[in-house]
Amino acid sequence: MNRRNEQPAMERTTRERIADRLREEPLSPSALAEEFGIAPAAAVEAVEHVARSVAAEDAQLLVAPPVCRECGFDGFDEPASRPSRCPACRGEAVSEPVFRIET
Ligand SMILES: [Zn+2]
Repeated sequence: MNRRNEQPAMERTTRERIADRLREEPLSPSALAEEFGIAPAAAVEAVEHVARSVAAEDAQLLVAPPVCRECGFDGFDEPASRPSRCPACRGEAVSEPVFRIET
């Protein structure tokens, strides 16, 4: 395992590539994580940075929030993160959020 994952220049490049991908198609944190070889939490963090940078260029990061497959709950407090449980029914069948960038 390569544990040297605190490289600012490389991180910036990954964010730029993530922004490019989200302009092409909607993607979930785990899809981004798999494609870029990073943890899903790191993908969410990268997307949060991307959201701020695209706002400066008249683009907008859109988030389709997670939905509980058991009860349909979709009012999660932090729609960009990946909830492990539904706060309404405590079920674990919660879908991932999906990100895209619209210009
Ligand atoms: Zn639920």
